[in-house]
Amino acid sequence: TRVVCLVRRPDGEPLPGDFAVEERPLPPVGEGQLLVRNLYMSVDPSMRGRLSTTEKHYTHNFTPGSPLDGRALGVVEESRCASLPPGTYVRHQLGWRERAVLDAAAVDGAGRIDPELAPLPTWLGLLGQTGFTAYVGLTRIARLCPGDTVFVSAAAGAVGTAAGQFARLLGADRVIGTAGGPDKCALLVKEFGYDAAADYRAEPVRDALARLAPDGIDVYFDNVGGEQLAAALHALRTGGRVALCGMMSQFGGAGRTVDINQLIQAVLKRLTLSGFIVRDHEDLRPEFEQRVAGWLAEGRITARETVVDGLENAAGALLSLLGGGNVGKMLVRLDGS
Ligand code: NDP
Repeated sequence: TRVVCLVRRPDGEPLPGDFAVEERPLPPVGEGQLLVRNLYMSVDPSMRGRLSTTEKHYTHNFTPGSPLDGRALGVVEESRCASLPPGTYVRHQLGWRERAVLDAAAVDGAGRIDPELAPLPTWLGLLGQTGFTAYVGLTRIARLCPGDTVFVSAAAGAVGTAAGQFARLLGADRVIGTAGGPDKCALLVKEFGYDAAADYRAEPVRDALARLAPDGIDVYFDNVGGEQLAAALHALRTGGRVALCGMMSQFGGAGRTVDINQLIQAVLKRLTLSGFIVRDHEDLRPEFEQRVAGWLAEGRITARETVVDGLENAAGALLSLLGGGNVGKMLVRLDGS
């Protein structure tokens, strides 16, 4: 089968030549295993950290000469597991390849999906791990309350477009987002439930928050860290909550240094800053799927994906994502899906 391999670790920013599509043999399908043909693959910012040896991540790092992996959705072609017959759609972790042989047990509880309930790409985006991340971050980590003013960074991305819409439906009074460029900012207000948006490249975020939320914010959903986190610390009201979800601005060590002593704001205002990894919160998934599938069916939320075609363009999709080339969830669609 064709796979995307890491050729060498990037020296600074990743380049197209750091990746290659190669042919690899598939193992035979053993007892309790499935042969899956991948239809969609998830492209995730966390892959950036996994390309380097120096940054420690919450899952294994990639190895030069070996295939990449990541979330994917495919159809079972051959099965040696009675409960997952051929034709079943499953989510799993062996993306970045056309076909995969995997243990049926690795198709976790959330792995079997119903294509009647929502289109396939939605199962990797709004109804997938990124939507789930937004839901966990807002409800359990930031403990969103009706009436809150919420600020979300990287708001036009996969997690951000979900977070803005969920915050509104969960009762937030005002939802503010930041994104790169005026087009993304316009979309945030027009399509994704944001009351106001600011272009972080055009204006210091601290000034934007003072303008758009003059009375302060209650919740910050942090996808980027760095200067935006510092700006949020100043804008938060007493008792404010921060869900620390990711640090897009810090990948590869390129982010500008921020004075950590600004954390004095957390002391003065009794803030709660909580980091989280979504996979620790699987118990919330049934509630999440039920609510979000309901909102989708009622037409109250929009699922948005940026879809790139072909395994040979997958590495380019990752580089594009890191540079802000996506709106909503970045996916790769494989031939024949
Ligand atoms: P996105 O779809 O949001 O894509 C990343 C976006 O980040 C880009 O589109 C770009 O948008 C923005 N960006 C890139 N560089 C910078 C920068 N220097 N400053 C500000 N924004 C930047 O990705 P996801 O929705 O998949 O992920 C969002 C965040 O959530 C990431 O930090 C990710 O690591 C994290 N995450 C955490 C999980 C957890 O369990 N804690 C689980 C899943 C994701 P723009 O054009 O606006 O710059």
